[in-house]
Amino acid sequence: MWTEMLSLCHAAKAKDIRVWIDAEQQDLQPTIDEWTLLLMREFNRNGQAFMYNTFQAYLKVTPRNILKYLKIAQDEGWTMGIKLVRGAYIATERRDLIHATIEETHEAYNGIVEDLLRQQYPGLDEKKRYPEVALMLASHNETSIKNAYSIQKSLIEQGKPTIKLEYGQLQGMADEISCGLLQLCQRSGKEAAEKQNEMEDKLRPRAFKCLAWGSTQECLQFLLRRVKENGDAVSRTGAWVMGFRSEIWRRMKASFGADWGFYLDY
Ligand SMILES: Cc1cc2nc3c(=O)[nH]c(=O)nc-3n(C[C@H](O)[C@H](O)[C@H](O)COP(=O)(O)OP(=O)(O)OC[C@H]3O[C@@H](n4cnc5c(N)ncnc54)[C@H](O)[C@@H]3O)c2cc1C
Repeated sequence: MWTEMLSLCHAAKAKDIRVWIDAEQQDLQPTIDEWTLLLMREFNRNGQAFMYNTFQAYLKVTPRNILKYLKIAQDEGWTMGIKLVRGAYIATERRDLIHATIEETHEAYNGIVEDLLRQQYPGLDEKKRYPEVALMLASHNETSIKNAYSIQKSLIEQGKPTIKLEYGQLQGMADEISCGLLQLCQRSGKEAAEKQNEMEDKLRPRAFKCLAWGSTQECLQFLLRRVKENGDAVSRTGAWVMGFRSEIWRRMKASFGADWGFYLDY
């Protein structure tokens, strides 16, 4: 399996395609972590993150776990690729490993993001060069995404160092957030073209959609699991539906108004 995995990674690297390894339940995770460490050590050289490991912020141990990796990356001089999620297995995971409340999970998630973005992760040796880090913020939580964007924006504007930051949402979920990020992208992009300003380019958020590939039968289990674990995001779409309703209503009223005007004029 290791040989197969290596050849898959080499093939991806040859095409300049990055690899994100998902996080699973804790029964399986130590082996996945160990393998991903070996792969990051081999592939994440020259300041580039090709291989990413996933960390689940709902686990109490995660800040310490990230520190462990950061220290190794710092000592060995490779780039650490982090995909940060809250965690999808609350229903099946050992409950005592997970934060007691959702608020604590939110706090942990946002705290890790802030420490990474500011390059002030507690516990690292300050005398050594700060390790290279690339962060994929995989979340549908608008507050976390907005916080991350505004922290990084202010760091860039002040000329302070930060890390590579990207955003990921699942295809068909939280599209309002992904589209919002793209709008920021376009706005910054135009300004960048006008001003040829390097800073504007740095401020452009990089947004990704994660999509399942295969026949309906192959994808169905994946999609069903995603709907279940993203129940919180689904409940948040209420505001989105209201927004659509009022926009449709506004357009209907506007078009009736135009029609009346036309008939009267005629
Ligand atoms: C691109 C992408 C890739 C992903 N890959 C993975 C992966 O590899 N592995 C994985 O495990 N998940 C993965 N997920 C799913 C992710 O872990 C979350 O389940 C999902 O995104 C919902 O969390 P959220 O950040 O969007 O925030 P929200 O919807 O605001 O938060 C919901 C999350 O809070 C946590 N939570 C809920 N109730 C409680 C409680 N009572 N106590 C403590 N914590 C609680 C749970 O983690 C829950 O999923 C991925 C998600 C995305 C968008």
